[in-house]
Amino acid sequence: MSAWDDFQQSLAASLADAEGRSRRRKLRPMTREAGGMVRLQDGRRLIDFSSNDYLGLALHPELTARAADYAQRLGAGSAASRLVSGTLPEHLAVERKLAAFKGCEAALLLASGYQANASALPALIGMMPGPVKVFADRLNHASLHAGLAQARVGQIRYRHNDLGHLDRLLASPDHQGATRLIVTESVFSMDGDRADLPALLALAQQHDAFLYVDEAHATGVLGPRGAGLCAGLPKGSPVIVMGTLGKALGGFGAYIAGPQLLIDTLVQTCGGFIYSTAPPPAVLGALDAALDLVPGMDAERARLLAAADRVRAAAAARGFDTFGSSTQITPIGLGSEERALKAMAQLEAAGILGVAIRPPTVPEGSSRLRLSLSAAHDGEAIARLIAAIGTLA
Ligand SMILES: *Cc1c(COP(=O)(O)O)cnc(C)c1O
Repeated sequence: MSAWDDFQQSLAASLADAEGRSRRRKLRPMTREAGGMVRLQDGRRLIDFSSNDYLGLALHPELTARAADYAQRLGAGSAASRLVSGTLPEHLAVERKLAAFKGCEAALLLASGYQANASALPALIGMMPGPVKVFADRLNHASLHAGLAQARVGQIRYRHNDLGHLDRLLASPDHQGATRLIVTESVFSMDGDRADLPALLALAQQHDAFLYVDEAHATGVLGPRGAGLCAGLPKGSPVIVMGTLGKALGGFGAYIAGPQLLIDTLVQTCGGFIYSTAPPPAVLGALDAALDLVPGMDAERARLLAAADRVRAAAAARGFDTFGSSTQITPIGLGSEERALKAMAQLEAAGILGVAIRPPTVPEGSSRLRLSLSAAHDGEAIARLIAAIGTLA
């Protein structure tokens, strides 16, 4: 047997193994529709409680019109990386608007959140006076792990949101004399709970450390005018902010925001920025429109969070673990993969899409439905979800 055949055989065996453990992941095409709905290929329409389109902006006519306008005027692609000939005036304009929204001196666009974390973290850590120690929440997103692995620094992982544990680690004699960076999400993607950023900042300052905060799920939803939880911290705090544009902002891409010096440095050193094609005009158009709308959406944010409270209360009343969630992301703990898949099928029979999340995305034995609400859902959609939760076994 050839090496190629051998390789094919091991791929087939690994897929069969995942299938046998209810862990095989499959792509399922569907089309997004108004009202937070999706249409499956068999024609069925489901209420989508699994998207990250928290404000319903992905289908908003102002975003799609401005995306189309930018594409018509400026082209389908940006044709080069930013430092070569790919920077349009519109890139700089959107970066200024983003920085103003976040209350930071400057912001830098990147192609995706995964790329931002995977490449900005090693770039920044590489510039820190050595040795560097990184303290990371145990539930940090895979892209944060990827960036820290690439940075080749030892990760000191603290128990999820356990600031007492973090304090002890920071105070440990093993970790003195190093530049110290704390890496966390502001809203955790699979649990929907929040980091206590004011307390984390106080702890960081007490130990002369600084923060890198991933605001993927807070941007657009939480904080003053939806600017994220870091926007509530005092100006000039030692915080590097990262966030994504494909979730509540309804488009695609990511940003790093912070002091001008930091952004200027990333332009020199961040591989994911330097060696990647500039975000295309349509993406800039959608983002420009989203940044006009999002600050004025306080009413939508209040309605979204109130609906999430009701959904969470319904799940808790049935005895389900909701993982300390206090945001638009409401997990329903089910334990085993099989039980989570069964609950997903049960919701689907009731016209609701609530995708089961299994290891390795979440820790062993903590399979769950990750329900995420959107301002696009009306009262009836929320009522149907609450009724369906009431029937889950
Ligand atoms: C979604 C997500 C990312 C990745 O962002 P993309 O733009 O989708 O690549 C990074 N961090 C967290 C916490 C996320 O939830």
